[in-house]
Amino acid sequence: MNVLVINSGSSSIKYQLLDMRTETVLCSGAVERIGEETGVLTHKAAPGTEREEKVTLSQPIADHEAGMHLVIDLIVHPERGVVKSLDEIEAIGHRIVQGGDIFNASCVVDDRVVDELTKLIPLGPVHNPGHLAGIRVARHLFPKVPQVTVFDTVFHQTMPPRAYMYALPYELYEELKVRRYGFHGTSHSYVSKEAARFLGKAPEETNLITVHLGNGSSMCAVQGGKSVDTSMGLTPLEGLIMGTRCGDADLAIYPLLGAEKGLSIAEINELTNKQSGFKGICGKNDMRDIHEAVAQGDARARLALDMFGYRNRKYIGSYLAVLGRVDAIVFTAGIGENDPVARELSCRGLEHLGIKLDPERNLAPERGARDISAPQSPVRVLVVPTNEELEIARQTAEVLAPGAKG
Ligand code: ADP
Repeated sequence: MNVLVINSGSSSIKYQLLDMRTETVLCSGAVERIGEETGVLTHKAAPGTEREEKVTLSQPIADHEAGMHLVIDLIVHPERGVVKSLDEIEAIGHRIVQGGDIFNASCVVDDRVVDELTKLIPLGPVHNPGHLAGIRVARHLFPKVPQVTVFDTVFHQTMPPRAYMYALPYELYEELKVRRYGFHGTSHSYVSKEAARFLGKAPEETNLITVHLGNGSSMCAVQGGKSVDTSMGLTPLEGLIMGTRCGDADLAIYPLLGAEKGLSIAEINELTNKQSGFKGICGKNDMRDIHEAVAQGDARARLALDMFGYRNRKYIGSYLAVLGRVDAIVFTAGIGENDPVARELSCRGLEHLGIKLDPERNLAPERGARDISAPQSPVRVLVVPTNEELEIARQTAEVLAPGAKG
């Protein structure tokens, strides 16, 4: 089965077409700056192979439908296309950030799903409108192709109330569904299964702390293959220190900023989501730039890195307490997979808790799933590359398999 994975934002569509018989990527790309003066489409056919071919188009792209038309033209292009006709696209999987507590599994898209996603916009105001635009266009352009929504929140729906409730007036939960949802669920789910496989254990018998460190970062306590706690909350703002998000911070900062700086709620939201984290501390949000600045003696960049490591260690410590027995700490995503310094800072001083890195294994420039802990470390430390598109395509195929619950 060929599955087209779509991650549609308010002004972008990222996509990947996968052949699920071999789990290979036929093509991938992104349409960006939709609705702006000049839009950009970057497309890769047969990525990572000898036949890889890149195409970049710069032109106005009025809306999501115009963007998807450009993508389709490339997918079935007579010379560089990867399938002969659109009939060869047999399913579509949509990445959805916020599924609230309405969705506790991936499901087939129908009018009811679209209605529920629309109702969830207050809980996912940044992402869900863009996802809905993608679903609308995909249903219009591929009316006969079954489509599935795969949610970032679903993996965390197994959290117990003691982990997902905020100690706010209970009515806020009843009226507005104010609670922790957690995000990056597709990634935590994928790497936890891959890590269990790497360890030669069944997921049901494996306890893990999965550490997704990218532009956005989150940690998850995984007990027997299920999420029992995670660091992101009602929105992706809470938890770890990220590229531009502050993570955990006292809510009383809001009224202070309102009173002293005259900032509106929207401005404070923008400040905490887009101007904080690494960027807020040292002016840079890309981890590679931070390392470069540290090497040049930049004290703020050093501080940002120290804060990042400290926050990560605090979360690892608390999830050790949540889980009791832990088989492995699993690093993933852009920073987690590529940055030995970040991994070392996240594990530093935790030897007494059974976490011992092997400095050489940590530094080895390998790719793929690997063990970077010292042989005698009671808790293994792994690096497992994430692959959210593959997980979405797998779940899409699973939901549509004959006999599966839709
Ligand atoms: P997103 O959350 O947008 O998917 P990624 O998972 O791609 O983000 O992670 C982006 C982060 O990964 C950036 O901070 C980037 O600096 C960092 N990163 C990517 N490659 C490396 C590397 N080789 N060394 C250190 N950091 C890296």
